[in-house]
Amino acid sequence: MNKFDLIVVGGGHAGVEAAWIASQFDLDVAIVTLPDVGLASAPCNPSVGGVGKGQVVRELDALGGLMGRLADLAGIQYRTLNDSKGLAVQSTRVQIDKSRYSAFAEDIVSKTKNITVIRAKMLGASSLEGGFLVSTSQGDYGSKKLVMTVGTFLNGKLHQGMNQCSGGRVGVESSDSLLSLFSSIKKRPSRFKTGTPSRLLKGSIDTTKMVEQPSDPQTRNFHCMGEYSARNLPQVSCFLTHTNEKTLEIIRDNKEKSPMYNGQIQGVGARYCPSIEDKAYRYPDRNSHHVFVEPEGLDLDTVYPSGISSSLPAEIQEAFIHTIEGLESAVISIPGYAVEYDVVDTTELNLALEYKDIPGLYFAGQVNGTSGYEEAAGQGWVAGVNAALSCFNRAPVFLSRHDSYIGVMIEDLISNTRDEPYRLFTSRSENRLFIREDNAIIRMHPYRSYLLLQNGLDAFLERFVQKTQILSKICDEFIFPENSPDILEFFENQLSTMSRSLTLSELLKQAWLDPVRTLERVLIKFDIVFSKDVIRTVAIEKKYAGYITRFDEQFEKIKKMDGTHIDWEKISKSQNVSFECRSRIEKIKPSTFGQLKRIEGIRPATLAVVASQAL
Ligand SMILES: Cc1cc2nc3c(=O)[nH]c(=O)nc-3n(C[C@H](O)[C@H](O)[C@H](O)COP(=O)(O)OP(=O)(O)OC[C@H]3O[C@@H](n4cnc5c(N)ncnc54)[C@H](O)[C@@H]3O)c2cc1C
Repeated sequence: MNKFDLIVVGGGHAGVEAAWIASQFDLDVAIVTLPDVGLASAPCNPSVGGVGKGQVVRELDALGGLMGRLADLAGIQYRTLNDSKGLAVQSTRVQIDKSRYSAFAEDIVSKTKNITVIRAKMLGASSLEGGFLVSTSQGDYGSKKLVMTVGTFLNGKLHQGMNQCSGGRVGVESSDSLLSLFSSIKKRPSRFKTGTPSRLLKGSIDTTKMVEQPSDPQTRNFHCMGEYSARNLPQVSCFLTHTNEKTLEIIRDNKEKSPMYNGQIQGVGARYCPSIEDKAYRYPDRNSHHVFVEPEGLDLDTVYPSGISSSLPAEIQEAFIHTIEGLESAVISIPGYAVEYDVVDTTELNLALEYKDIPGLYFAGQVNGTSGYEEAAGQGWVAGVNAALSCFNRAPVFLSRHDSYIGVMIEDLISNTRDEPYRLFTSRSENRLFIREDNAIIRMHPYRSYLLLQNGLDAFLERFVQKTQILSKICDEFIFPENSPDILEFFENQLSTMSRSLTLSELLKQAWLDPVRTLERVLIKFDIVFSKDVIRTVAIEKKYAGYITRFDEQFEKIKKMDGTHIDWEKISKSQNVSFECRSRIEKIKPSTFGQLKRIEGIRPATLAVVASQAL
């Protein structure tokens, strides 16, 4: 029997990241994955990034993950979202050529000597002394640690109108249920649902009736060590059109044929990723919804109409699609469908994404009740790195919610039982002005250093951090004397005199100035050379420094309490804790005040009791 240090089951976005980071520790890693599914394949929207998600991709990239590099290799349209809002909340979104994205993942993984890809179906697993025995359709394998990243496949069931069949996604078989794969897991999984729109033949749509959205040549690529904005592939456009009254009328008239609304689907879908049926029935007064027509690849003959995900019968999907401007003659290549699947109760996991009752077993990705490639990839990194560290008996690495969106997601996941799929939004973070795309390297550098991997990326990050420190110091110490003509020039004619001296840092805070452009201009004028990335990071940091310092002061007070260890058993026995809070505490078993605080339904009175005991 072949033995590995780590077996990752599932070669999706979570599985590839888990295997990739573990392989950097020189461990023997295997990916066991279904033969008919390519590595890091995209069964839904052909894009990476977006609001909140772009930040995750950059965090992953600085942590040594793969997603940013793959997106750059396969990127065919780049955009900066929230362009008109503040610099702190802007996010990158990249349209990918989905077959090339998966092919690049296959290529990189196949060239990594210590990752073996086993194209087989996992049939079961059991824990043995010091590890696991994994049974697959190709034989049995042993491993010290096991990471499960099986996406939407556990007990997967596909729906399209009245048609139902078993499957993890269209054309691919499902996996056995969690309880039959692991006889030692007793907890019943929840059932979630997601869906996807019809794919349309490119040649059958009329983009002249739609609003073109070309690729933005200025948007920064994802990979921090790569070119700033030179693209690997030719760029293409997306197109925007809208649904109308007729579209929604057809959907409303066929409510009884919708598996989501006639009781056929029991699983819960993501509130913030609604199907067109959800939009039609939940918002009866709204008929105009965006439809983004997105290319799936340079050589693929299909487009992805984002915004009209549906599981209505194929002929009804065709009828409503034909009412949309530009899609009047659209030919459906694959009709939309929904998939129902089992998800793990993530309150059974710890911050390393390890199953509390089965040490060495980790879960990551959609199987944890999240939705989205980036969320899956972020969890894959966390599970993979911690499985690897535990092979060396090293302490796990926990990303804090204070400085990363991945940390926000992990803490949210393990603190509460999910009653619907989890998606990342910037609003889930208390610290949005600090957790930005531009400073991902600064935020992730301490975590990456902890891994002691010391490869080219680590040297790059180290240099980057040093350069930002130098430029930051220059900004603080560079003084424009009062009424200097230089400063008036940089104030862009907003002032005729400046009656006091000003540091460069103070200049960058001025409300009407674009800090990045201003810092670039000042540095050019005084012949000081720094890379575009370093300038951007420092300029935005200076712009928001005041807000961030104020937030940090408040946060430090709360953090002191957050890290305080608590005895959940003692708390649950307290007379002053309500029945509801007690049952939630007993379920989650929080070990810190911060974790207790974030359990849904915990009342301030309970927190007050605990705080008075803890201090
Ligand atoms: C129909 C559909 C619609 C979706 N819609 C959206 C959406 O609107 N928005 C959004 O953000 N995300 C959507 N997604 C989700 C998106 O695909 C996932 O978030 C993402 O792919 C999850 O990554 P993952 O690595 O967790 O799982 P996946 O990418 O699904 O990968 C799972 C892997 O596990 C393998 N596997 C499963 N069972 C076994 C087994 N027993 N043995 C061996 N290998 C196994 C499979 O081969 C696959 O490689 C949708 C997915 C589907 C299928």
